[in-house]
Amino acid sequence: MTSKKPLNFMGIDRVSLRQLFARLEVKGYHADQVIKWIHQQGVTEFESMTNLSKTLRKALTGFACISVPSVTGDQTSADGTRKWLLRLSDGNCIEMVFIPEPERGTLCVSSQVGCSLNCTFCATASHGYNRNLTSAEILGQIWLGHQMLKGPGREQRAITNVVMMGMGEPLLNLRNVACAAGVLLDDFGYGLSRRRVTLSTAGMVPQIDELRELCPVSLAVSLHAPNNQLRSRLVPLNRRYPIEQLIDACRRYITHEPRSRVTFQYVMLAGVNDSVAHATELAQLLRRIPSKVNLIPFNAYPGLEYESSDQDAIDRFRDCLLAEGIMTITRKTRGSDIDAACGQLAGRFTDRTHRSARWGRRRVACTA
Ligand code: SAH
Repeated sequence: MTSKKPLNFMGIDRVSLRQLFARLEVKGYHADQVIKWIHQQGVTEFESMTNLSKTLRKALTGFACISVPSVTGDQTSADGTRKWLLRLSDGNCIEMVFIPEPERGTLCVSSQVGCSLNCTFCATASHGYNRNLTSAEILGQIWLGHQMLKGPGREQRAITNVVMMGMGEPLLNLRNVACAAGVLLDDFGYGLSRRRVTLSTAGMVPQIDELRELCPVSLAVSLHAPNNQLRSRLVPLNRRYPIEQLIDACRRYITHEPRSRVTFQYVMLAGVNDSVAHATELAQLLRRIPSKVNLIPFNAYPGLEYESSDQDAIDRFRDCLLAEGIMTITRKTRGSDIDAACGQLAGRFTDRTHRSARWGRRRVACTA
């Protein structure tokens, strides 16, 4: 007997589920109901979907399932930031982080197991890469986040914002990421506005254009340097898609939405990219585009040879951008005591690139 793997409805958006149901001659509105049960009621058994007929529930149980990664680690930082280690069905583990603030709660999700880009200041890079996450694994993180943060007597949803800023480069997994973003925006799913869903990229130019067509959520770009020479050193992807092409893609991205801006992230590395001259060059570059700059103090990780700029240098850099009329904020470092801050997520997985071994040797060399 051949047993076909059940289709995991956790990774399906409403349009695709409606198409599937149409082929099965099931009415479209049942797809809407199923999506609501899964993402709004947190139901994972078709049997519990009481507004579907018994026959339909039985049929669905026969060929589909609703499953999510399992939680194998749960840490809370002194500042309230929470980090989970999630085990996928193939045994690889990824990380997810929740950042509570007075006015909002942000869930930071991963898009890949590891990362194939090799940004020189990022811990995720040093652990190598295994594979893309499926749409069910991406949506499973959001589903789990909601379940785990649901407390007794808590009416409001704890998660008000979702950022795809965890492990991986989301635009190298565009199809699955766009499907997940669709469910986040869908009123039958999580019903978030585009402003509350942010995708962060190191600068995959063709995919920025594709994302605009597929699901234009808020865009954050990891810029980190104001010129190609320096950026190519920090973000090797820049050699493929240099700054001019990247900025043009960002401009195209926001043309449909006159009031929107692109967020540019800029990690503050002492003596590398943090001088007033760099700030002036950055302001010059961003004059062409409605933008907002997030300065990120560098988070240390064993083996990374950089140091964070000190508070004075960060303030000087910020003031220089503000004086040029560019909206700039310094991102608060959250969760660094549990390695949950930007660039510190590592997970636990098999590295298929063998990059982690090379970083390991570098690490030994620099601590010796
Ligand atoms: N690959 C995507 C998503 C990762 S988002 C991207 O590059 O945008 C994680 C953010 O944290 C990125 O802006 C990344 O450049 C930044 N980051 C990586 N390592 C860091 C570190 N050690 N300290 C501070 N920020 C870091």
